[in-house]
Amino acid sequence: MKPSIAIIGAGLAGLTLARDLSPHADVTLFEKARGLGGRMSTRRNDTHQWDHGAQFFTARSSAFKTLLTPFIADGTVVEWQPNITTLSPDKAPFKRPWFEPHYVAAPAMNRLLKAMATDLEVRLSTRVEKVEQQQDKWRLLDENAALLGEFDWVISSAPLPQTRALLPARLLGDTLARYSMLPCYSLLLAIDDADLPCWDAAQVNNAPIRWIACNHRLPGRNREAGAIVVHSTSDWATAHLEDDQEAVKQQLIESFCALSGVNAKAITQAQLHRWRYALSSDVAEPDAEFVLNASARLAACGDWCLGGRVEAAFTSAHQLAAVLLKQL
Ligand SMILES: Cc1cc2nc3c(=O)[nH]c(=O)nc-3n(C[C@H](O)[C@H](O)[C@H](O)COP(=O)(O)OP(=O)(O)OC[C@H]3O[C@@H](n4cnc5c(N)ncnc54)[C@H](O)[C@@H]3O)c2cc1C
Repeated sequence: MKPSIAIIGAGLAGLTLARDLSPHADVTLFEKARGLGGRMSTRRNDTHQWDHGAQFFTARSSAFKTLLTPFIADGTVVEWQPNITTLSPDKAPFKRPWFEPHYVAAPAMNRLLKAMATDLEVRLSTRVEKVEQQQDKWRLLDENAALLGEFDWVISSAPLPQTRALLPARLLGDTLARYSMLPCYSLLLAIDDADLPCWDAAQVNNAPIRWIACNHRLPGRNREAGAIVVHSTSDWATAHLEDDQEAVKQQLIESFCALSGVNAKAITQAQLHRWRYALSSDVAEPDAEFVLNASARLAACGDWCLGGRVEAAFTSAHQLAAVLLKQL
């Protein structure tokens, strides 16, 4: 009989793991959100769409390139070659082109995850609240203490603080304590076409903001609807994490207008998203690409092990799967 495996979180890491393990195990993914995306999510309303988490990704390892190959072939993943500038409050803008391919999913960032989830069992809108051991099984419970299932293995791909809260510290705690995560604000704007910047994206220095993109100009989007995504720096988000959210939004709008030259009157919609666990802090010398206690049949993976990038999420999960496949 195949072993049963519960994976908590259906972001890129959870889906990678599920795809790798599914031929050899009965895998169930639990995802608290209503849809797939995690930190590669897309927000929509009647007129606009914004990729408010990851804006692009690179592919350096041959394993990640192999995953992407069919998705590039069918147009789910497209290379993005923006007209990119560098802005700062006290210096003239200058161009610093990218020297390696950068990719986006099309027509929205979460499309890659939707494509990866084909044929997998994903239970959406299902938050795992508690993980407990009973004899030789792991029991997963939801917020109403209802049993979600009993499994031989449980693996968390949730962001680090959520993984820490779920998995028994006595089995994984010391290892998990070595990593940490930082917040970020995403400001989502709709802007009249005539007032849009001439560049597609901007890296920003010395400001509360670190990144601005004309999201509607990413490949495969509706280029008519001016949709801007602004990301704050982690330092600024940390300093303003508990501030009044309306005040945070106004400060980021002011900074955006000052940097980009866009008139605030041209902004027709503005939303703020607070990511409490956005990016992992740099891991100078990573201890491991994942965390595993094989005798307890418990593991954790995600971008936080390797420095907080889309490819890091893939690598952590893919390496964990390779080790697990020898043990199942
Ligand atoms: C604002 C922002 C900008 C970024 N920009 C870039 C970029 O430009 N390039 C880049 O490469 N990377 C970027 N990143 C990082 C990138 O998005 C992540 O590295 C990657 O998406 C992480 O994938 P993951 O699967 O490890 O985690 P996640 O995508 O966070 O997936 C974890 C999933 O677990 C779910 N979950 C959590 N707790 C529970 C629970 N109790 N029960 C059930 N489900 C649960 C969550 O809902 C989530 O879907 C950015 C991230 C943010 C937030």
